[in-house]
Amino acid sequence: MTATAVIEVFVHWFAFCPNPACAYHHEAPASPWAYAIGWYATKAFGKVRRFRCTRCGKSFSTQTFSTHYYLKRIVSYRDVLYRLAGGESLRGMSRALGCSLSLLTTRIDRLARQGIALHARMLRARRSKEDICIDGFVSFDCSQYFPSEIPIAVGRTSGFVLDVSHCTRWRSGSMRQDQKAKAKALYSKIRLERGGIGRSFREVLATSLALQPPQPQRPFVLITDEKPDYARVVRRLAAYWGEGEGRLVHLTISSYLPRTIHNPLFSSNYTDRELRKDLANHHRESVCFNRNVANGMLRLWAYLMWHNYLKPYRIRWPKGRRPATHAEASGIDATALENVYRSFFEERAFLTRSPLSPTMARSWKKEWRTPGQAKAEYLPKLALG
Ligand SMILES: [Zn+2]
Repeated sequence: MTATAVIEVFVHWFAFCPNPACAYHHEAPASPWAYAIGWYATKAFGKVRRFRCTRCGKSFSTQTFSTHYYLKRIVSYRDVLYRLAGGESLRGMSRALGCSLSLLTTRIDRLARQGIALHARMLRARRSKEDICIDGFVSFDCSQYFPSEIPIAVGRTSGFVLDVSHCTRWRSGSMRQDQKAKAKALYSKIRLERGGIGRSFREVLATSLALQPPQPQRPFVLITDEKPDYARVVRRLAAYWGEGEGRLVHLTISSYLPRTIHNPLFSSNYTDRELRKDLANHHRESVCFNRNVANGMLRLWAYLMWHNYLKPYRIRWPKGRRPATHAEASGIDATALENVYRSFFEERAFLTRSPLSPTMARSWKKEWRTPGQAKAEYLPKLALG
């Protein structure tokens, strides 16, 4: 066998090089560009082959492209996601699967990142334009003294969730005397963000506007409740005043209206109800509440991706075939959705290759701060790849 023949046998092709600094990271040549440099043995995955990139010289293995990279034990991602979406608490899940809480959290973090990357890619394939509902989902982190408001932008007819953000509020409503004293003591020690409701609403609105910018023939229709913070943000937008190409129309709905399917905010109300019902950390009076905002947001993203891409669409479709999922109802082509399972559960998503909105990036990098916690969240270096 000649030297050339040996090289031909061992030269391989992958879609991209996993090294973010390599020229082949975003696009690799169509011809083979990596060569095999042996293999290593693992308990969980058997023999794994290693390769070296001809461009940057860094080595990687077939595992580098898998959602199981650097893991020592296989736990079914699908199982974890369906249990999470079925209302199981983390402790309940860890008991049922016979694994530790930290192992489970790692898997949920990875699932959420897989979901965020898939979502960012699919948003580019989304063709239709529809009215957008934005409403704040109220829950709490750490204790009832730190209520959270999570604005969720959702398509009015499709129920497809576009983006979410988060802010921590002061506790309001009626409190006993001792509760008032405790709140005062807590808030004097822990500083909370001012204007968080407006900021978080502005973020999800910006994502929605970027996805379907108002056009002369099709204004951007925004539906919210009558919260003054929302109106203040909207009034600052040039599109609201008809300046520029197209207009933004803001429709406000009274929260006293019956929450039926005829309510223009139905999709928001539906999403809120499903979240409250399905996620253990958002059940009313839950003891499984979020202890950590960044982890809670990743759990929410994992759930939302199940809602958008895997859960069957909820209602009868007026004409013809019923769309299979909320994503399809939102105008994402069925062919683009073909490989959803593989993208979600098997092929590792890379931050450097994912076109994320600022809020998605913040969730991916665990940049949400928990009230009273000064230290930044631990983020494995691998998550930044
Ligand atoms: Zn490379």
